[in-house]
Amino acid sequence: MNIHEYQAKQLLKQHGVAVPTGEPCKTVAEATTAAQKIFGGGGTLAVIKAQIHAGGRGKGTFKDGFKGGVKLAKSADEVTALAKTMLGNVLVTKQTGPEGRQVNTLLVAGAETIKKEFYLAVLLDRANSRPLIMASTEGGVDIEEVAEKTPEKIIKEHIDPAVGIQPYNARNVAAALGLKGELFGQACKLITAVYRTWWECDASMVEINPLCIVEGADGKESLMAVDAKIGLDDNALYRHADILAMRDLNEESPLEIEASKFNLNYIKLDGSIACLVNGAGLAMATMDIVQYYGGSPANFLDVGGGASKEQVTAAFKIILSDPHVKAIFVNIFGGIMDCNVIATGIVAAVKETGLKLPLIVRLEGNNVAAGRTTLAQSGVAIINGDSMADAAQKAVKAASH
Ligand code: ADP
Ligand code: MG
Repeated sequence: MNIHEYQAKQLLKQHGVAVPTGEPCKTVAEATTAAQKIFGGGGTLAVIKAQIHAGGRGKGTFKDGFKGGVKLAKSADEVTALAKTMLGNVLVTKQTGPEGRQVNTLLVAGAETIKKEFYLAVLLDRANSRPLIMASTEGGVDIEEVAEKTPEKIIKEHIDPAVGIQPYNARNVAAALGLKGELFGQACKLITAVYRTWWECDASMVEINPLCIVEGADGKESLMAVDAKIGLDDNALYRHADILAMRDLNEESPLEIEASKFNLNYIKLDGSIACLVNGAGLAMATMDIVQYYGGSPANFLDVGGGASKEQVTAAFKIILSDPHVKAIFVNIFGGIMDCNVIATGIVAAVKETGLKLPLIVRLEGNNVAAGRTTLAQSGVAIINGDSMADAAQKAVKAASH
């Protein structure tokens, strides 16, 4: 699950990371009130930030041509005008794809005087089976580009998960960022706090881009997380009710939400062959073989090892609501799964949905004879696959008509 920047900053703040003062606003009136607080409290500049689950907002463009999802404003009136333009508008960034995302929330915050921008992230390094702190002096920019063009500018510090972050880990990173004096001490505290946020929230990733040296009204420099992104491990959300409450369904694909209600593991893709498979490994292999024979999968769908008739019917409805689907490929290897349950589910779903598209079924394993009989006696038009390869080729052919 992903959360918004303002929510990520709440979690970071709880763990002791300094963030700019700001408020999430869902209406123009709320944005005006938040701005009045900033300017009334002596602030001279505010920043208005579109809250969507995608980065690159600063350089993004709204569908109506308005440029920038992160804007500065010199007065409360200016904030009001910007909020009117941005709320409800669709922002397209490098990460949203061409369809963009509708902006329903704005973060209105005091603008900081930024002296320098760094990059800081904590993630899991699967290759080393360890948490990894990644940092760079090249902050505020596209980090993938830095990694590609100047990999030497990426600092990596692995953490031993058994002992947790040690003072020397934080010092290594702070030193590599070239920080000195008071800022060095601050950086050590901040890096440790960011790591603890990652660990305690069961996050998959915490990314701060930019982490900034900012200058206060008194001319003193300090470190602050000016942007923040947190991804969470779905499997651990059950122990974080407060974080789960941050879920924003507007940011998720409606089909994926529907699938999660039925405990189906569904991910929408952009091809034309819908796949209904039991087991994530077989689902991956199915997408591969479809691709191998020249087709393209419309989705990843794992109905699990012990799917019920209701789940299969729900799965059918979900894959059929994608208008790009031209053929359905059911690939079942019944280990725990009873093939006859799947067959019964398929027949019920076809009848209930009035399916007109070609349906290719490859059924193998536990109680397969009964399953095949159910399909044969149902009167439903089914193209049988003798093997996975045979079924995949038939699906590709059916989808090409
Ligand atoms: P994104 O990464 O989605 O473009 P950011 O939050 O990183 O969004 O904002 C883009 C840029 O806007 C930052 O690199 C920073 O220079 C500037 N910015 C963002 N928030 C503030 C702030 N509170 N004060 C001053 N500048 C800001
Ligand atoms: Mg950013």
